[in-house]
Amino acid sequence: MGFFDKIKEFSLKVTEVENSIYGGKTDYLEIYERNLQLEKEIEQRTKELNLANKRILTLQHILDMMNSAKPLQSVLENIVNSLQGELGYLHSNIVRVTSDEKGEYMYVLAQSKDLAIQRVNSIIHDPMQTRRLAYAPDSFYAEAINEKKIVQTKNFEKALKFILPELDEETVQETIREKQSKSLIIIPLYTRNKPFGIFCVFSSREDLTETEADFLTTYAQQIEVAITIADLFETVKAQAVTDSLTGLYNRRYFEESLAREVMRAQRQNQPFSIIGLDLDFLKKINDVHGHAYGDLAIKTIANILKKNARSIDIAARMGGEEFNLLLPGIDSKGAMIAAERIRKAIETEEIETIGHITASIGVATYLEHSDNIEEVMELTDQAMYLSKRNGRNQVTLAKPITETSWQEIAVNTFLDILSKHNVPIDSTLSDEICEKLKNANQTKDILYSVADMINSIYNPLHSEGVMKSKVLLAVSLAKRFDLSKEEIDNLRIATLLYDIGNLMLPQSILLKRGPLTDVEHIKMQEHPLIAAREILKPISYIQDVIPIIEHHHENWDGTGYPGKIAKEEIPMTSQIILIVDAYFALTEQRSYRAKLSPKEALEIIKQDAGKKWNKALVEEFVSLIDHDLN
Ligand code: GH3
Ligand code: MG
Repeated sequence: MGFFDKIKEFSLKVTEVENSIYGGKTDYLEIYERNLQLEKEIEQRTKELNLANKRILTLQHILDMMNSAKPLQSVLENIVNSLQGELGYLHSNIVRVTSDEKGEYMYVLAQSKDLAIQRVNSIIHDPMQTRRLAYAPDSFYAEAINEKKIVQTKNFEKALKFILPELDEETVQETIREKQSKSLIIIPLYTRNKPFGIFCVFSSREDLTETEADFLTTYAQQIEVAITIADLFETVKAQAVTDSLTGLYNRRYFEESLAREVMRAQRQNQPFSIIGLDLDFLKKINDVHGHAYGDLAIKTIANILKKNARSIDIAARMGGEEFNLLLPGIDSKGAMIAAERIRKAIETEEIETIGHITASIGVATYLEHSDNIEEVMELTDQAMYLSKRNGRNQVTLAKPITETSWQEIAVNTFLDILSKHNVPIDSTLSDEICEKLKNANQTKDILYSVADMINSIYNPLHSEGVMKSKVLLAVSLAKRFDLSKEEIDNLRIATLLYDIGNLMLPQSILLKRGPLTDVEHIKMQEHPLIAAREILKPISYIQDVIPIIEHHHENWDGTGYPGKIAKEEIPMTSQIILIVDAYFALTEQRSYRAKLSPKEALEIIKQDAGKKWNKALVEEFVSLIDHDLN
């Protein structure tokens, strides 16, 4: 083959190859495009599958929650929260439709925690969940409920105005201005075939596909089931009369029986008694042996109560480690015998691992101690606490209410403060004070000297006898005004206690060198009041005394603290303490000045008449002191 032939052959081959390459290219392009198409489809299908999967998981999550026996509120909150995020919803809530004497209205039962609601709440001031929402018959909400269908709207302005017609236009516009949601979907909720409310979902999409509507309907059905179950559960619980741990009657049944017994006792003019019992040192048993043994101790007491109760007695577990026994027709004598028998039986019983346990018992009798059942229960409780204070494992009979004098209340208050360890007092000193107090009922002077002892803990310059003088002066002053015996008794107790909060002054302020900052100064002023309330709050029988103490730094012109209240708003008794306290402060030695004479002190007090204190009060006070001086 010549050279040219070879060239020709070569170029033919090149064309051939070129052709075959070109043909392949079209094939490849086709395949490539088909692939691309398929990939897109797969991606779309995967997206749909993912969404379906998420929806199934969300529904599964709700089912799990409904099995958890949590209270309805928290189940519903979990339900709305699990809808947020990936499913493309920005906020959802469950709204109850109900009615009262003012007509039909709605309120938010549960709502998801998200930025959308935070934003709305910050604009409308009162948070959505605390508001009474209007239920207009021509609203989307009523439409969803009445027609039992899903309603979708993009008109947020209208949606908001329907439920909060009182909002001004500006607030409405601001609320809807920067919202992210594109549409609101309202799904009706029905339980047991009755309208319950609505389930509202704020969606980031404008459209609502059929699949999505199906999903939301299924979701709403789960909510309906959750509500129905919780409702049934509540009904069953409310019908229960026994406590599951012990098999004793529960508090509800005890209270019902008590009401029945009161009626019978009144009709037949016959007494009945209450034995109140509290297991001693249960916390210790729990700590040392574990909760199961704590439960065993509780069950042991329950069994002893059952064994010792007659068939008509009601033995109940009131909660925790607290029991009551109601003894129809039994007076205090009989009840004391029964209580002592129970105490003995508890003490004697040997429990595995724990050994022996004890209980403290109080007894009170209806028609003997009081003909007011609340008072009888309160007295039982007080008697039980007295048993605790006097060393536990004993029975105490209540004292009739009329015999409780202010001294006894004051003594009990001090004992309660010390025994409940509400104040940081050295235990040797605290034991010494308690010993003294136990003899105090015979003489008031022991009570005053205890008050002096407590005052000298935070005030080293406090002198013996001052508390008695303060109380006597306060009472003489009170008697010049029209105060009831009860108010005067409360004043006496308040005078003994008003500075008790000083025991809790923070060391950081007490020990600070150099001047106090403004904030510290206010704290220094208000802290004792706050502390006093904390110390006294748990003591149920002196609740009327606490406000007197709380306001004993209020000035007549409203410049005092902490309430900045003025004039007649200030309890008279608080004003009396303020003036008596000032007088004693001025006539006592202070680290920064010598003591003033009574006349000098009165001059200073007079300067503030009408400002710090009521003019009439100052006049009476001056005349009282003058009278004493002459
Ligand atoms: P006191 O003699 O003053 O009554 O001392 P206490 O430890 O028995 O009483 P306190 O009121 O200080 O503590 C009661 C403890 O009882 C606290 C609580 O954890 C425990 N408790 C309450 N209910 C139960 C229960 O059902 N089972 C168990 N194991 N412990 C309980
Ligand atoms: Mg106890």
